[in-house]
Amino acid sequence: MWVTSSRPRTELLAGVGVPADTNRGVAMTEHAVVIVGAGPTGLMLAGELALAGVDVAIVERRANQDLIGSRAGGLHARTIEILDQRGIADRFLSQGRVAQVARFASIPLDIGDFPTRHNYGLGLWQKHIERILAGWVGELAVPIYRRRQVMGFSQDHTGVDVELADGQSLRASYLVGCDGGRSLVRKAAGIEFAGWDPTTSNLIAEVELAEEPEWGIRHDVHGIHSLSRSEDGLVRVLVTEQHVDRPGEPTLGDLSEALVAVYGTDYGIHSPIWISRFTDMARQAASYRTGRVLLAGDAAHVHHPAGGQGLNTGVQDAVNLGWKLAQVVKGTSPASLLDSYHAERHPVAARVLRNTMAHIAILRRSDERAKALVETIAELLSMDEPRKRFAGMMSGLDIRYDFGEGHPLLGRRTPDLDVVTANGPRRVFTLLHDARPLYLNFGEPGDFDISLWADRVQQVEARYAGPWELPVVGAVTAPTAVVIRPDGYVAWVGGRTQLGLADALTTWFGPPATREYRGQCRGSRGGTGGDGGRVADFIER
Ligand SMILES: Cc1cc2nc3c(=O)[nH]c(=O)nc-3n(C[C@H](O)[C@H](O)[C@H](O)COP(=O)(O)OP(=O)(O)OC[C@H]3O[C@@H](n4cnc5c(N)ncnc54)[C@H](O)[C@@H]3O)c2cc1C
Repeated sequence: MWVTSSRPRTELLAGVGVPADTNRGVAMTEHAVVIVGAGPTGLMLAGELALAGVDVAIVERRANQDLIGSRAGGLHARTIEILDQRGIADRFLSQGRVAQVARFASIPLDIGDFPTRHNYGLGLWQKHIERILAGWVGELAVPIYRRRQVMGFSQDHTGVDVELADGQSLRASYLVGCDGGRSLVRKAAGIEFAGWDPTTSNLIAEVELAEEPEWGIRHDVHGIHSLSRSEDGLVRVLVTEQHVDRPGEPTLGDLSEALVAVYGTDYGIHSPIWISRFTDMARQAASYRTGRVLLAGDAAHVHHPAGGQGLNTGVQDAVNLGWKLAQVVKGTSPASLLDSYHAERHPVAARVLRNTMAHIAILRRSDERAKALVETIAELLSMDEPRKRFAGMMSGLDIRYDFGEGHPLLGRRTPDLDVVTANGPRRVFTLLHDARPLYLNFGEPGDFDISLWADRVQQVEARYAGPWELPVVGAVTAPTAVVIRPDGYVAWVGGRTQLGLADALTTWFGPPATREYRGQCRGSRGGTGGDGGRVADFIER
């Protein structure tokens, strides 16, 4: 079963994130959850698990968090909201540039009128996003085994043995592959990566040029190309290649060849800091889970960067999975809860794949017909309803998980309302900071009885007189109570009765505690369930 603390951590780690080099032959180290990959997805997932009190560790082959070169350029509104739900959005907002970043086929989609505190996106390079996330994970004391490469794993009915390149191994109750598009975990698990082969290939690089280039964006029959200054004063090159089937890692020769084909010269290119290749390959894991092994982020889905959705989707995968996995390893929910992770997140990424393929079908051509198509779409998107729909999709604010028919809030993100509680004014997102389920009652105090879940679910009596508005959907009827999952999605909406409340609490947070168990909780003041005793006491008042 799962373990509450790792062993022998001191032998394997010389301080968090710095592995000792003299650790061959030590006993197998155990954690409840091992995550492969300290990219944005793995870091976010580790933070979520640590907040839930789960013993989690990350294995990462990179020596440190430095990321050479630029990948993702920022965050969409829903991701900013998710970070706000954990009280860390300001760390990102203070270092980036707030702007209207949502686009479809390069057509800007303004979300300034959406009912959210974050009716914008954030321009912030991935290296900064990772650095800030890693700082948060460090505060939560998650060990990161750096300079360690996972080579394989084997799972049995109680856990997973994870093999590292240095001959050591780790034991975990669950293994999560957040190891990027070429995921070893996905391959070793034998999970099909179904989808579409690339039709176009781009090189992206930071270099120095001997000659002054043609700055800016150029469209031609091959696609889009651009030359711009990076924040470090280097030249950022984006160039569409003539071929899509180049094997291996990209070289300076490949870059030179691609530039000559487009511009007739390579401008005396030299001293590359990094060169990377991306394509419009669109693939998705057929299953996000096999037994005790799960996938998240690029390991589960890859697509063209158009629309800037990859990192955002991965971070949101992590927040969907984190609390579920925590409940399963703690034994409060059955393992079948993990199936809802695939059920909810697979369609979200499938939609991302679909819209990136549409993007590319439109953008890769630059003839008069393609221009006419873009103009036609721009005309459509200038109308309010289509603009809201597409902006809701690209910003992630319209995501609705399928929890069946019901109130429009069901399965959607909770609005971050300013409510008044017994402890004074609070934002709903503030009540989610410690990633615990929330029962928010707007009716008479004690209207509904959730005491059998009091060890897991925080109950807050609240007052709110303002409107309930959702992006894209608009105004909705005010509920008398809501159950909000730790990821901020509404799992139950109360009307005049508590119909379905017990089922929803059981589905999402496990079966009710017995009366005897509740007695123990009160007696021990939160022994098993964190501050369950305090919550129970609060409800009894
Ligand atoms: C040019 C470009 C532009 C992009 N622009 C955007 C954008 O604007 N917005 C956006 O949202 N997304 C964008 N993306 C996508 C974004 O970069 C990825 O979606 C994101 O990095 C995925 O995060 P991840 O944590 O899932 O995987 P990764 O960032 O790939 O992290 C995986 C980690 O796992 C480690 N790892 C891999 N294998 C092993 C192993 N066997 N053992 C140990 N460690 C291992 C790696 O070292 C790495 O640190 C862009 C991508 C590219 C290429």
